[in-house]
Amino acid sequence: MTSKRQKNLETNTPSLFSFTLAELREYFSSNSLSKFSADQIFGWCYKKYMFEVDCWSNVSNKTKAHIEQYLDNHIPEVVWVGLSKDGTRKFIVKMKDGETVESVIIPSKDRLTMCISSQVGCAIGCTFCYTGTMGFKRHLGSHEIIGQYLALSKWLIDNIDQNLRISNIVYMGQGEPLHNFDNVKKATEIFMESKGAALGQRKITLSTSGLVPQIEKLASFPPVNIAISLHASNDDIRDELMPINKRYDLQRLFQAIDKIPLKAFRRITYEYLLIKDFNDGQSDIKGLCRLLNKSKSKINLIPFNEYPDSKFKRPKEDKILWFRDQLIKAGYVCTIRQSKGNDILAACGQLNGTWSEPNKNK
Ligand code: SAH
Ligand code: SF4
Repeated sequence: MTSKRQKNLETNTPSLFSFTLAELREYFSSNSLSKFSADQIFGWCYKKYMFEVDCWSNVSNKTKAHIEQYLDNHIPEVVWVGLSKDGTRKFIVKMKDGETVESVIIPSKDRLTMCISSQVGCAIGCTFCYTGTMGFKRHLGSHEIIGQYLALSKWLIDNIDQNLRISNIVYMGQGEPLHNFDNVKKATEIFMESKGAALGQRKITLSTSGLVPQIEKLASFPPVNIAISLHASNDDIRDELMPINKRYDLQRLFQAIDKIPLKAFRRITYEYLLIKDFNDGQSDIKGLCRLLNKSKSKINLIPFNEYPDSKFKRPKEDKILWFRDQLIKAGYVCTIRQSKGNDILAACGQLNGTWSEPNKNK
């Protein structure tokens, strides 16, 4: 019999956290175990954050022994936590092979939003993004995406308040989620299981830099909120910011977006990075108005978050408000994303694995 220690060192043992509920039921049935155990185990792991088989009082010993031998219930480890003065927490989470990613928890009035990573590093290389400067290391498996959520959920109940629950997930951490389509899709399906984490489709947002072939496959993805990192209204400016635009320009991007099946009254969110004296003028507003359909779009302005040696600057506050007001006057739904966690490099685009400060903040 494989020992638990041996099993946890083997990387090809399937993770318990890579199964949807239907898959786990089917797996147990095909191994002559009670398929109802799958529902019980989902409750223990995704509702109570109890991952050790010894804790599962209503699961049979036979099933537990099987899991001990053949499945991996390892959860990534929280190795560092930083607390911003606005309440945002940045976590460094270590995977089994030692690679680390960042996950962020952002509290607001009625939500606790988790910003989750989908890859170690990112291959897209946008010129304004700190993560982009790291290059690409590897995709995360679906269990490692789920693992960040489970590790942080457990950390919150152990360290802050046992009633705290993450209410929303945004794929806006490290990585381009659509570059890791299958694993992100599987993780999303698992997040939505009603007997598990039970996050509804409106509670999950996928942000993409514009990978056209994968956008064209979104009909096969759970119908979550979609955000497109647009950042420019013409190809010259977008080419400078996002090398992906040279492969899939705005015309191709919008042809693909037009095919996304949207339920009635749903809108696509367009993220627009506001950079001082670069894309924050009247001509940019006109360009956006030409490009975006008022009834199907929502614009989310993201004032540029500066980081060490960043070549761009953030516009002044009155310029940001002026830009928003012009778009609202033109008839758009337009909001400004409040940047959270700047002081600990936890805001959008500031994630690059930096966590050298002493870990004294909880
Ligand atoms: N890779 C995906 C999701 C992660 S980035 C994407 O690009 O959409 C999440 C958001 O942060 C994106 O809209 C991205 O363009 C934005 N972002 C990146 N660097 C930033 C910076 N320095 N300041 C503000 N937003 C930034
Ligand atoms: Fe990657 Fe998104 Fe950063 Fe671009 S903005 S480098 S796609 S993480």
